[in-house]
Amino acid sequence: MILLDGKKIAQDIRTELKTEIDKLKAQGKNVPGLVAILVGNNSASEIYVNSKTKDCNEIGMKTVTEKREANISENQLIDLIESYNNNKDYHGILIQLPLPKQINADKVIEAISPKKDIDGFHPVNVGNLVIGKEAFRSCTPAGIQELLIRYKIETKGKHVIVLGRSNIVGKPIANIMLQKKEHANSVVTICHSAAPDISYYTKQADILIAAIGSPQFVKAHMVKDGVVIIDVGINRIEDKTTKKGYRVVGDVDFDEVSKKASYITPVPGGVGLMTRAMLLKNTFEAYRNYGI
Ligand code: NAP
Repeated sequence: MILLDGKKIAQDIRTELKTEIDKLKAQGKNVPGLVAILVGNNSASEIYVNSKTKDCNEIGMKTVTEKREANISENQLIDLIESYNNNKDYHGILIQLPLPKQINADKVIEAISPKKDIDGFHPVNVGNLVIGKEAFRSCTPAGIQELLIRYKIETKGKHVIVLGRSNIVGKPIANIMLQKKEHANSVVTICHSAAPDISYYTKQADILIAAIGSPQFVKAHMVKDGVVIIDVGINRIEDKTTKKGYRVVGDVDFDEVSKKASYITPVPGGVGLMTRAMLLKNTFEAYRNYGI
């Protein structure tokens, strides 16, 4: 079994981007910029945005966090987004979700210029992905494909089973792996909570991508020998032996399933870190495509 080391690959990506940004600086050019918009006082969101700031600083990418009170109106938020749509120094716009109730998240996402939509949530990018055109791909699915590429895992003709059909993980990764392109071209099946017998599907997986938010749901008897496991789940379970009283596990029972798998992502240390790295990569891409 080979561990798909998201920590190492994410570090490699940051190092590669830093090299590119150092070159731009040496040439006296503008560098890529990322704005994160954070509304309200959600501590998980704040931690997430802080880690993005740290990543940007590490690679020399320009970054700013626009913090707004929870009572901001939808129009005020859209005005803020539009000001960054027209700002030449910031090439990627990130809206940290969830947003407060009075704000329609769909409307806010649609206000982001598709050219700066580094999260890949804008309907234009989603649509372009589905029809096989160039598009920003949301960071978690993009990170999954990047892991498969860097570990040289064959995907053409392989049966990829995706557990979960969310707009941020399940559907986009299914669409990515379905593309008639290099590093994809898989046969894809998507499962969700209405599937009567999940094992029937999971046993067929050459590559199993689990994104359901159910701790250690996938067990060894549900997969075949040699399966490639991508565990997207991030779940807290009680663990009195730890200081915090809990630990983080994925949607796959790592101890059991790793014995049968050819490759597997750990949780933590797998897909989550790739998600962060792909946000930087998408911002760099936005700069390359539209910013110079
Ligand atoms: P979500 O929006 O809650 O969607 C969960 C999906 O799983 C739904 O489609 C649901 O089916 C399906 N599902 C739930 N229980 C199931 C079961 N027993 N059998 C089959 N399908 C089942 O979740 P999400 O946002 O995609 O996130 C999924 C997990 O990934 C969470 O643990 C989340 O924390 C984690 N995550 C990690 C990252 C990362 O960077 N590593 C990024 C995003 C999310 P229905 O559609 O029928 O309800």
